[in-house]
Amino acid sequence: MERLQLEVAEIFRRHGSAYRQQHAGSLSRGQRRVMSALERCRTAALGGHLEECDSCGHQRPAYNSCRDRHCPKCQSLARAQWLEDRQAELLPTPYFHVVFTAPGQIAAIAYQNKAEVYSILFRAVAETLRTIAADPKHLGAEIGFLVVLHSWGQNLLFHPHLYCVVPGGGLSPDGQRWIACRPAFFLPVRVLSHLFRRLFLEYLQTAFDTGKLQFFSSLERLRAPGAFAQHLAPLRQTEWVVYAKPPFWGPEQVLNYLGRYTHRVAISNHRLLDIDNGRVSFHWKDYRDHDRQKTMTLEADEFIRRFLLHVLPDGFQRIRHYGFLAHRYRQAKLARCRQLLGVGITPVAREDKPDYRDLYEKLTGKSLRDCSLCHCGHMVTIAALPPSDRAPPLNTP
Ligand SMILES: [Zn+2]
Ligand SMILES: [Zn+2]
Repeated sequence: MERLQLEVAEIFRRHGSAYRQQHAGSLSRGQRRVMSALERCRTAALGGHLEECDSCGHQRPAYNSCRDRHCPKCQSLARAQWLEDRQAELLPTPYFHVVFTAPGQIAAIAYQNKAEVYSILFRAVAETLRTIAADPKHLGAEIGFLVVLHSWGQNLLFHPHLYCVVPGGGLSPDGQRWIACRPAFFLPVRVLSHLFRRLFLEYLQTAFDTGKLQFFSSLERLRAPGAFAQHLAPLRQTEWVVYAKPPFWGPEQVLNYLGRYTHRVAISNHRLLDIDNGRVSFHWKDYRDHDRQKTMTLEADEFIRRFLLHVLPDGFQRIRHYGFLAHRYRQAKLARCRQLLGVGITPVAREDKPDYRDLYEKLTGKSLRDCSLCHCGHMVTIAALPPSDRAPPLNTP
């Protein structure tokens, strides 16, 4: 028999109610919603339908998904759909990726002011890339890029950083030429790092001055302007970590990378090793020790606490497009880029909403309709299953 895939959802189903009791006072509504979405995802609680194999008669329930963006189970379809949309936007250039990290002193403030500080991070990163690229000393072009926020490190602790994926070149100021980056070199990271630091601290100070930041418990002392200034002072002297990884050369590689990074959640199910005896063990990569793969074991309570650190503010956009890829101008500007790069315009045929099972098969090559028992028949819906809160949570892989 196949070993059942361990799931984050199972940890919440086993230890979620104890956690709710223990931390009733500090759980936000958003965190409670994510907990219950994960616990109910693809269980009888959400309802679904009963399927039967048209060849051997095998029956199985197919329960609905929670579709929450924090759910490790619900990412593959969202990711596949999103990648399909991006495919038409790829340009025949190398693609660079640049990562901007907020220092630890900022992470603590960010945790208590997620929406505000995340927005400032996006703004500072976008303005940094645009400004340095537009500078004739560097590239002298309008670039386009997408930025993804990750708030976690490998140990699931809070560590906000932004991944940027940037085609290697841009439009000349008069829009008449494509200006390419030098091969294997995008923009000087030290220059990026310094401007990012300056802009971020400037925007953070403005947010403080206009009363948009809040401080609780261990940070309460930062409410005083003097203490806040003192907290930030050393950050003006340190180097902020910005690094550029080697570029990708083909569209395939770019899509692959985007697929891995854009729809990630704090921890994916396949990193889980063991969830018994009230403890959770999982793989992690230790970047400080030559990227060695290690095992981390946490009490279930601590695992849940860390997972919930990464719940996003309601409606917060964690993938954003800028420059010639910004939504408002994307169509016209991308067409211009393609023209200047000498590639035709690929018209994107928009199909009507297909059944999610067909879509899943088309995008992943895996069928959700095959019978898992005889492997030759197809599963056909024979009855609807209404949502039921009384049924025990059945776990369907
Ligand atoms: Zn789900
Ligand atoms: Zn069958």
